[in-house]
Amino acid sequence: MGTQNSSVIVSKKPPPTPKSIINQRFGAKATYKVEEVQDCSQNGSAGLGILQKVPSLYSCTLELPEFSVLSDICKRKKDAEQSAAEKAIEKLGIHPKEDNITPEKAWDQLVSWLSVLFSNEFLSSVHPVSCHLRAALHRKGDFHGFLPVSAIAAYDAKVCSLCKCIQPEAASSLLLAIEQIIRAAEKLSDSLILCEDHLSLKRLNAYSPEIVLPLSKSEASMVESIPVQVIRVPSSVKKDVEPLTLNVSFNDYYLDVIAHELGLRDASKLLISRPIGRASSDTRLYYSVSNAITLCQSSESHSNQTGVCENEFNVRASYLSGQEICGDVILASLGYTWRSIDLCHEAVSLRTYYRLLAKKIPRGIYKLSREALVAAELPTMFTTRSNWKGSFPKEILSVFCRQHRLSEPVFLCNSLESQPVLQGSTGLGGAKRNGSDLDGASTGQIVSYKCVLKILSKHHDLIIQCSPKESFKKEADAIETSALKVLSWLTLFFDTLDMSAEAVTSASKDLDILIYPEQFLKEFRICLSTHHQFQSIGATSHSFLACEYMHQQNNKLGDNVCFSKIDDQDSGVTPSTGCIVCLSYNIALVVVVEGKSIKELIESSKEFDFEVGCGAVFPLLEAVVLQMSIGQSASIKMELPPEEYILGAAVNSATIVTLLSTGSCFLECHITLLQVTVPLEDRMEQALFKPPLSKQRVEYALQHIRQSCATSLVDFGCGSGSLLDSLLDYTSSLERIVGVDLSRKGLARAAKVIHQKLSANIDTKLSSNKVKYAALFYGSITNFDSRLCGFDIATCLEVIEHMEEDEACIFGDVVLDSFRPSILIVSTPNYEYNPILQRSALRSEDEEDRETCKFRNHDHKFEWTREQFCHWATDLAKRHKYGVEFSGVGGEADKEPGFASQIAVFTKKDDTTILKTEDVAEDYEVVWEWNGLDDTNLGSAV
Ligand code: SAH
Ligand code: MG
Repeated sequence: MGTQNSSVIVSKKPPPTPKSIINQRFGAKATYKVEEVQDCSQNGSAGLGILQKVPSLYSCTLELPEFSVLSDICKRKKDAEQSAAEKAIEKLGIHPKEDNITPEKAWDQLVSWLSVLFSNEFLSSVHPVSCHLRAALHRKGDFHGFLPVSAIAAYDAKVCSLCKCIQPEAASSLLLAIEQIIRAAEKLSDSLILCEDHLSLKRLNAYSPEIVLPLSKSEASMVESIPVQVIRVPSSVKKDVEPLTLNVSFNDYYLDVIAHELGLRDASKLLISRPIGRASSDTRLYYSVSNAITLCQSSESHSNQTGVCENEFNVRASYLSGQEICGDVILASLGYTWRSIDLCHEAVSLRTYYRLLAKKIPRGIYKLSREALVAAELPTMFTTRSNWKGSFPKEILSVFCRQHRLSEPVFLCNSLESQPVLQGSTGLGGAKRNGSDLDGASTGQIVSYKCVLKILSKHHDLIIQCSPKESFKKEADAIETSALKVLSWLTLFFDTLDMSAEAVTSASKDLDILIYPEQFLKEFRICLSTHHQFQSIGATSHSFLACEYMHQQNNKLGDNVCFSKIDDQDSGVTPSTGCIVCLSYNIALVVVVEGKSIKELIESSKEFDFEVGCGAVFPLLEAVVLQMSIGQSASIKMELPPEEYILGAAVNSATIVTLLSTGSCFLECHITLLQVTVPLEDRMEQALFKPPLSKQRVEYALQHIRQSCATSLVDFGCGSGSLLDSLLDYTSSLERIVGVDLSRKGLARAAKVIHQKLSANIDTKLSSNKVKYAALFYGSITNFDSRLCGFDIATCLEVIEHMEEDEACIFGDVVLDSFRPSILIVSTPNYEYNPILQRSALRSEDEEDRETCKFRNHDHKFEWTREQFCHWATDLAKRHKYGVEFSGVGGEADKEPGFASQIAVFTKKDDTTILKTEDVAEDYEVVWEWNGLDDTNLGSAV
């Protein structure tokens, strides 16, 4: 692109919003208060008590240190804020500068700023560049007093922004910026010496001794050389990344020291990348100007500067920096800052290097925030703020965008007001979460939030948009959920770069994401091309996760897991989905050399919390934890995760590097389950009821089994088998029991406990039950499977509220129409009972949860009132020729607000067990089966 286009490009970028201008100036000192304003003209017609949707209007007060302003009245909160900011800007008399500056003006300013840089006054000021100027005065021989232009381009923010105005591409090309500085310096030939060959600048007239002497005195104390740890990243991927120590003394110009390390004569041909990683650190990549690129030949030739390159393309460095870099590279955290005149430095170890690599993708950013590069995974679900551990999705997304030089993510939140559903008249399959408002809020309206998230390139082109369908009670939850969806998509994308177009589309659709492929690929061009190559260099690949995941999907933890202390310490307290577990772990690298195994600790934690069921740790770990109880320990053998996680985790990366290359390696993870915090729902139920509600539900079912002399039972949505497990403790007529669920993890747990109990019964010959056959099926209970037809009794306890309302209706129809059990027992929470549960069991720390979720459990899609439940069940029974009776557990039938758990018992009216033989359908997958007397099946359990 030639310079003549640049003005067009400059004007294409939209001006900063009033809010962002205020934010730049005042930061946190500017506070916005948005208030809803009543619009009387519209409200007038609405009679009292009639809930009519009136569009809300907002006004905003912006408070600044000196004054405050009031906005116009707007339809959206955001607009009100912008309006207030706009008024404040008028009052302050600020004009958004940078953006109406023309390239010509920027050019003039660059020339004059350059002459300032080389002035007497500037030399004694505190500025990163003045430190370089002083250091240049210590350079020996020909270079004495010469300042490399790259130092100006890298460390002078003003020069950078001016260069960007002149030619926007300069923002991402150091060479272009250097070239512009040289052109500007040419205009100052009466005061500056330009050594084009060496890309260096010097004053024509030496500084007078009065200025220089006092400066050198203050620095004279620094005589010894300081060792600085840096990293060399060779361009050849065959060579390892290696740690080095640079010795920088007061008499050296540190850029020369780095240049020598790269085999350059001096710093003039040294290029300096943008800072990498943390904004507060000054970690940069140093590399040489490629020989093929001779800057000063012609100014137009740079459009294809990436063309010929004598040095080998440095994949690792390019991936790390997001810039195309050739040749060997030094990674160092070294330089002058605004804070002092001394050279600042931080050690950059191998570990630092691998952590910087990990930080390139969302998963790595999350892992680092948890200080658990190996154990933690970016969760796939956001339930509540209190359950989320580590950096929040929104923060991770910000870090990611900054890393990849994108604009800050834009979150557009909308509040929706929905009218409460009038009881009794509710249609099923209506809006999600439509329970009536029991909080007694004054308006009676339920406000919820939706959040659209936009990811924009640095030039403000839209590249990703996420518009989740779900709405939330809290704005913050809407925001975090959108952010997590985008992060999940990005993670998937980086994991499987060769994803087909269809796969990309379908993944995006599932996550409510719209991708703008052209812009997306443009922004991530270097990152994607290098990521791919980079992965193939790594000792291992990402595939281990997928592979382990399959393992777990097959429900075989196999030889990889070894539980210990099962018998003596089994506390009986076991985690399930939604629990927060706390465990201690240590993960060691195990290397087998000549039959001997060497162990080296990689990562450990004394207390590591995570929410079960959200994918917050590597899949195998989660699967194992679900099988444990408090006090138990387990060892897991696992394949190696990607190199950057192992080496970024281990303190002694160098030892690990050597070990990795010596023999066959694997990781061994030793965990001890310390604590399990059960979800709010269970806690509430346990606090208020004795025996706990779950136990009362089991006893209720048992009572019906006894009365009906049922010999077969199917438990729809058996979860981790609490009902089936408890049934085995009692004497009953049951001979065949089957559980169905959609959660493999739940089924794995169920298999373990039922298997243990059945085996124990056989061993002790103390069989209190007659069960001959037990099985667990994987599948959705909205689907039909002919193997479960005509059972005596079917249970579905606390399951339907985990499905959408329309699915609950489908389930009802499938069971009563196709499965046709003699008896069906369905239980679900009674929404009207919630206030009592909450009052009795809520601890103060749960308040936030309570606010976020009106329901007992975050996974509940709805909770019905007695009337709603009655409506559903009565209608269902009528259509399928069943009778229905209502009952419940916890509380009393005829005392408000009824039972805590409401139960409907459906009884088949006609006695025909119509087995529609033509309907043979085996939709479910048998994941575990038991034939009591047949020993061959004993091994099929977990
Ligand atoms: N009945 C058990 C578990 C209740 S939790 C008990 O009382 O303890 C709800 C269970 O329903 C979860 O295990 C969930 O996986 C399951 N579930 C939700 N939707 C389902 C569906 N469509 N098909 C099968 N199981 C489902
Ligand atoms: Mg439930």
